[in-house]
Amino acid sequence: MNTSTSQALFEKAQQYIPGGVNSPVRAFRAVGGTPIFIKSAKGPYVYDEDGNEYIELINSWGPMILGHAHELIQKAVSDAIQHSFSFGAPTRREVEVAELIVEMVPSIEKVRMVNSGTEATMSAIRVARGFTGRDKIIKFEGCYHGHGDSFLIAAGSGAATFGTPDSPGVTKGVANDTLTAPFNDLEAVRQLIDSNKNKVAALILEPVVGNMGCVLPAEGFLEGLRKICNEEGIVLILDEVMTGFRLAKGGAQERFGIKPDLTTLGKIIGGGMPVGAYGGRADIMNWVSPAGPVYQAGTLSGNPIATAAGLTMLNYLNDHPGVYTQLEESGKKLADGFRASLQKLSLNYTLNQIGSMYTLFFTNQQVTDFPSAKSSDLVLFGKYFHAMLNKGIYLGPSQFESMFLSTALTDKHLDMVIQANEESLKEVLNLH
Ligand SMILES: *Cc1c(COP(=O)(O)O)cnc(C)c1O
Repeated sequence: MNTSTSQALFEKAQQYIPGGVNSPVRAFRAVGGTPIFIKSAKGPYVYDEDGNEYIELINSWGPMILGHAHELIQKAVSDAIQHSFSFGAPTRREVEVAELIVEMVPSIEKVRMVNSGTEATMSAIRVARGFTGRDKIIKFEGCYHGHGDSFLIAAGSGAATFGTPDSPGVTKGVANDTLTAPFNDLEAVRQLIDSNKNKVAALILEPVVGNMGCVLPAEGFLEGLRKICNEEGIVLILDEVMTGFRLAKGGAQERFGIKPDLTTLGKIIGGGMPVGAYGGRADIMNWVSPAGPVYQAGTLSGNPIATAAGLTMLNYLNDHPGVYTQLEESGKKLADGFRASLQKLSLNYTLNQIGSMYTLFFTNQQVTDFPSAKSSDLVLFGKYFHAMLNKGIYLGPSQFESMFLSTALTDKHLDMVIQANEESLKEVLNLH
């Protein structure tokens, strides 16, 4: 495969951009080699600058749940840009999108739009701190909540990939206010809270983790956290930036029947534009400025172009329950195919899958938390990643990522992925 244009662009990019990329994992450092530069995408396919075609299993890290360049969203954006790009003043669509989010995610009574998932999580813990008058938060090892200072403690994905769970530039004071527990470990949470009585403002987690690879909550884990938070007056924040509008119309909270106090959203909510949101109980959200004293603002928040894309996306998902039926079937077909290949090749690797999210971990251990995810053979994953890329399958360039299926992937595409997976496994393990 010729990727010389991408290589030349990356060469030049490194001269002007730190590491050549605007977000670390894109640089392929976890898998070796140089990143491909994307020129365009349509439906289930992305095309690089050298004209190679790939089947998409990343989908912009989730937002492209309907496949790339969906016609309705394209039209909504091109209609919106006729009326200018930003006003910094209230607009009709902001009301419509807020109403729709409240309808789709039942735990949300009021919602504030921001410009990224990072902003959503930063703001959610600020309002939780204001509301409770407490300073500390609890997060889980391997969960990623964006790059806010408070969260760069034992954070998954990018941080895990680069072995810098504690980033320089995060002050000790901030780090001291972030307590961490192993995912799926209720007892550890209880102990943390006991030794920090009346000091914990919020507990934040990805209800299904995507950022140490796909990791599911154990039976009773989410319910247990809900109960502890009720008993201790702690604000339970579900970070559904990845799972929101993906694992169900109302996100993982609908799927698992858990009612958080606050929810953070991003990715799908913008239909591919930079959008995030946080929302939840009205009595907590009424602490947000200008209704209340907790300050949070944004020049471009709720801007008309992003809102046009997001509103169209959410309306489509709300009106087409078949999207979720299809994604469930696609996820199951892919998982069945992968498991059949693993069995055929006598391999014991762990496949975690739920709905349209999955990760194949190169470890024989069950993956239920960050240490078990880290037991994976990362060198082998790197080889597998490149074998798949060479067969025209575009995966997330790290073992610690979830893949995201879209409705643009038909049975034909899924069969191609299943076959490429089996061939790639054989290739990297020298099985014949
Ligand atoms: C992607 C992600 C974020 C950060 O969102 P950005 O838009 O990249 O700032 C936060 N939380 C979770 C669970 C995510 O997957």
